[in-house]
Amino acid sequence: MDTLGLYFHIPFCKGKCPYCDFYSLADKSLYTAYKEAVCEEIKTLSRCREFAADAHKRTVDTVYFGGGTPSEWGAENIRCVLQAVKEQFPLAADAEITVECNPSTPDLQTFFAVCAESGVNRISMGMQSAVDSERKKLGRRANAADVRAALYAAKNAGISDCSLDLMIGIPDQTAESLQQSLQFLVDSQVPHASVYLLSVEEGTFFHKNQSKLNLPDEDTAASFYLQTVDFLNNNGLQQYEISNFARPGYESRHNTRYWEQKEYLGIGPAAHSFLNGKRFGFTRDIHAFLQGQPPAFCDDGGDFEEYVMLRLRLAKGLTQTDCRQKFSIGIPPSLLQAAAKYEKLNLIKCGSQGIQLTPQGFLVSNMLIADLLGNIDPTEVP
Ligand code: SF4
Repeated sequence: MDTLGLYFHIPFCKGKCPYCDFYSLADKSLYTAYKEAVCEEIKTLSRCREFAADAHKRTVDTVYFGGGTPSEWGAENIRCVLQAVKEQFPLAADAEITVECNPSTPDLQTFFAVCAESGVNRISMGMQSAVDSERKKLGRRANAADVRAALYAAKNAGISDCSLDLMIGIPDQTAESLQQSLQFLVDSQVPHASVYLLSVEEGTFFHKNQSKLNLPDEDTAASFYLQTVDFLNNNGLQQYEISNFARPGYESRHNTRYWEQKEYLGIGPAAHSFLNGKRFGFTRDIHAFLQGQPPAFCDDGGDFEEYVMLRLRLAKGLTQTDCRQKFSIGIPPSLLQAAAKYEKLNLIKCGSQGIQLTPQGFLVSNMLIADLLGNIDPTEVP
């Protein structure tokens, strides 16, 4: 039986960052009720049962607390959830257990100590920028010194596997200010970094005020991305996915599940799952979750096209070996033919092992992948 990853969405934040459209709210009065509901779901799977009847038999080898801001919700709540996981699932001895944290959360020393004691062994920290004026524009309270102190506190608690989030395309960002953030990241010696391009989403403060923001244009943002890939690759953090970089052996095992089409169960409002060939998700409403509303079916996942789409996000790309292992076929000739025309443009690398998007290709990955999928001959796929 395949292993399982567990994702817990912690939908609480201290306030709302002006660019963020993740599901979160600032309501401490719901903390305890939410912990109880999550623990009950772990025990009974009463909401997810239709899709996850066999989940308790699966060995869990990755657990991820995302959000929202799990560090605001508190280490005691995380400890209770992990206790429930240990009681209900076989948990692999070397399971990767990640908690997202905000460097502005008070008393992170205690937070990390309790987390570490409960089994947490990886931290993902929302830094976004090491330039304080940029962080301010993003509505972030902590400054670069707070990020440094938070990393130190995590290390002190025994958690040295830390990732920093970095954002590209921040209003008024320049190549020099980005370089300052990149240098901070490398100097901090974290083994992992996630790098996201700011996208202005409907319903956010940034969306309403877009005309007043001095956002880098598309070409500038693209050059920032290439600057980032180049600098991190040259400083030991190898790109392994469109937005993710790691020192060897520190790739996020949980997130790699998503790109390798492996199974995971997401619990909490807005959390999605892929289990037993079905994709399903909870609605973005904590009250519906607290009242026991089950997740809704989204679609049948796991087909070949989806596999191609996910694998091409990875730097190692789509390989003949992995394709044969998973679907008992090699890469369809029609797909290889379509890929070849992009090789001349330096967007895709083709070889006997398979195909990979280049950093320039990652910049236009949506268009490239859609075109490749559109060219697959349906008689060549399972
Ligand atoms: S802390 Fe993170 S999840 Fe919360 S509002 Fe800000 S960006 Fe969104």
